[in-house]
Order: sequence, then structure tokens, then C-alpha cells
Amino acid sequence: ITQLYGPLTFLGFVYREVKHALIDIERMFKLLGVRAEVMDAPDAQALSASCPAVRFEALSFAYDGQRPILSGLSLEIPGGKTLAVVGPSGAGKSTLSRLLFRFYDVGQGAILIDGVDIRGLSQDTLRAHIGIVPQEAVLFNDSLYHNIAYAKPGACREEVIAAATAAHLRDFVAALPDGFDTQVGERGLKLSGGEKQRVAIARALLKNPPILIFDEATSSLDSRTEQAIQRALAEASANRTTLIIAHRLSTIVDADEIAVLDEGRVVERGRHADLLAQGGRYAEMWRLQRADVETAGAPTDKAWQS
Ligand code: ADP
Ligand code: MG
Repeated sequence: ITQLYGPLTFLGFVYREVKHALIDIERMFKLLGVRAEVMDAPDAQALSASCPAVRFEALSFAYDGQRPILSGLSLEIPGGKTLAVVGPSGAGKSTLSRLLFRFYDVGQGAILIDGVDIRGLSQDTLRAHIGIVPQEAVLFNDSLYHNIAYAKPGACREEVIAAATAAHLRDFVAALPDGFDTQVGERGLKLSGGEKQRVAIARALLKNPPILIFDEATSSLDSRTEQAIQRALAEASANRTTLIIAHRLSTIVDADEIAVLDEGRVVERGRHADLLAQGGRYAEMWRLQRADVETAGAPTDKAWQS
């Protein structure tokens, strides 16, 4: 499921690059096993927002039109602020990000950007405003440089390197035999989960979108990698409207708001300290993760698969 983002992001790139060529995007969606479910309205408007507020308003959604995944969910992210969403596997967290990117349209309710229903916006301009750092970033069989650069067609080398630096990839790149020109992907150097995630952050930074979605990886990262990712993320989310889907609660203690999702509903929301004081679901999750840290010496993702 989460791997959809990689091919789709790449597809977006291919599509932009060859948009006047004979590429049938519907067919490409089919080839990738994804249907283009969403169409532009005939009078679709261009989105142009620098610090957009995002509102999920009484959302209900089912992938199959039957089994409800989200049920009357409401949340807001004020422009430039960070909302963290936590909760058990299957709660509907990644679904929220897919709906915001408009891979699917909501059943009931609406998603509003600066008060405008995203169904009234052109998909091109909506997606140009959003950078997704997926749970599993996909690398192409190409140089590390091109794996980052594709996020912004026409980017100059300085911009690409600046994005990699901001994503805390410089030390990693410096240690590679051919630096940025090292071949990566299936037929090249294999990157660890944490390295791939920083490549995805570099892509998002190069794209420089006003809305950032970060779906944290569940795989255990060593603590140095985790710190590097956390710094990169904190810097990337400054002054951007950010949705963080968090598995490790330690990464979101500073979020402007935290929402706990379960079975497609918001069951608690507030800031870290408030939620701890409430002694509810969040406080319990926090206690469990702390216990893991203390016994194992490193955080685990027991409570947070996907
Ligand atoms: P989370 O990210 O909180 O773990 P998801 O939003 O990925 O949860 O998924 C919520 C529910 O929706 C899960 O039960 C999952 O099996 C289901 N689901 C996710 N993607 C699809 C899909 N493309 N088709 C059908 N069901 C899906
Ligand atoms: Mg998920």
C-alpha cells in the first residue's frame, strides 16, 4: 500500500517530463495496479497558497464503499503548524494522507485547503503543493543525484546538494565511492531504511512544497540515524503545514497538536503534556514505549506497526 507513493511520485515525474508525448496516464495507472479514481472538475481551480490551512471535516471513507475506514473524522492543521497523528495499525492514518493527496475522493465530509474543497482544485496544482515522505521510499536504478533531482525537473546541482545537506545526507554521501554519482536502487547500492527516508526528505525539500506529509518508517533505526532523520524533519517542517504520522512518540513531543486515531475516529487530541496528564490512550502508549526503551535500550515499534 505505502509503496504506491514511490511509483506514483515517479509517474508524476514521467508525466510532467513527457506530458506532450503519447503517454496514456490511465494506462500507466493500470500497469502499476492503481486506478485513477479521481477526475478534475470541469471548472477546477488552480491552488496557490504559501501557508495553507488544512481541514479534514467530518470525513467518512471506505475503500470498497462498504467497510468504513474513517468515520466522521474532523481535524485541522493551521497554516505552518504541525499535526501528529498516532494510533494502532489499521487506524486509518495513512489513509488520511492518501485522501489529502487525492488518490481517492472522500465518501462524506470534505478536505479543505484554505477553506476550498480539494475536489474543486486541479490535481496538478494540489499535488504540487504537497510533499510526501512515505513509509517506504522507492529508489530508482540511477545515481543518488538523479534520485533526488527528479523531484524538481530542471533543478540545478547546487539546489540538489543543498536539499541533500538539509536532509542530513552529506556524511553518508561523502563516504560513498562515487559520492552523489553512486548508482543506487535494485541494481546498485542498497540503502538502509533510514538512508532511503533521508533521500525522500531531500526530494521533499527540493520540491519545497508548502504542505509536508511524513509517514514515519516502522523499521528500527539505529539511534544516530534516527537523530539525523529527526533533525532533518524538524527543519523541513518549520513554517510548513505538516502532517506527521508517527510511530515513535518520542519524535512528536513538540508537535503543535497530537491526535490519537482508532478505527477511523479521533479518540484523543491535544499537546503532548496535556495528553499525558489526561492519563488516557496516549499516556498508555507513551508508558509502553518508554518501558520498551528502558528494557531494550532502544525504541521498538511494537505498538506501532505500519
Ligand atoms: P494505518 O496507516 O493507520 O496503519 P491505513 O490508513 O493504511 O492504516 O489503513 C486503514 C485500513 O484501511 C486498514 O484496515 C487497511 O487494511 C485498509 N486499507 C488500506 N488501504 C487499502 C486499499 N487500498 N484497499 C482496501 N483497503 C485498504
Ligand atoms: Mg500507515
